[in-house]
Amino acid sequence: MDHVFPPPERPSLPVEGSTARFPVRRIYCVGRNYADHAREMGHDPDREPPFFFSKPGDALVPSGARVPYPPQTADLHHEAELVVAIGTGGADIAPERALDHVFGHAAGNDLTRRDLQAAAKAARRPWDMAKGFDHSAVIGAIRPGAGLPDGAIRCVVGGALRQEARLSDMIWPVADIIAHLSRLVRLEPGDLVMTGTPAGVGPILRGETCVVEIDGLAPATVTLV
Ligand code: MN
Repeated sequence: MDHVFPPPERPSLPVEGSTARFPVRRIYCVGRNYADHAREMGHDPDREPPFFFSKPGDALVPSGARVPYPPQTADLHHEAELVVAIGTGGADIAPERALDHVFGHAAGNDLTRRDLQAAAKAARRPWDMAKGFDHSAVIGAIRPGAGLPDGAIRCVVGGALRQEARLSDMIWPVADIIAHLSRLVRLEPGDLVMTGTPAGVGPILRGETCVVEIDGLAPATVTLV
């Protein structure tokens, strides 16, 4: 087919134990999925069903990259998150079948322009420019397999521990997240779901390196330059 310009290549992630890559379609994110983080942001974690926002697929940053400190912010924050990679599409997925749709898991960092997010919240405006900016989704190599990681999740900035929690602290477990999301949109192979962050979010400064670690998974590392 003729195009008026060359179509961009699909972003993709490495897969552990394979030379084949995982082509990325959409990046969905869950808001406030750990009670202590919901509280630190001023919300009551008991009263909210899961809600979603998204980042463009081409906001993907592979682990180890150096990315420019983003424009129009003075408060870039890290959010350490478990990422679920969808391998089989579907809509209206039942929670008890949801894990059948999982290709694998990765560590991720939902980079956030916190000052723009606060302004958007105050004005009741969308979060897109606070969340879906260029280079905003740092994601490590995918470990294939539907078996859920169940250990610790940590975020280390400049060598200092900033976030630490158990994945079992999630309010909505992965199966429920997939079920809820699949009622809103049809999931397709290549979709990624960032499953929310625990307490301890905070700034990353220019020149700092931020590492998200999840037991059993490859880290998601980024340096802001
Ligand atoms: Mn997040």
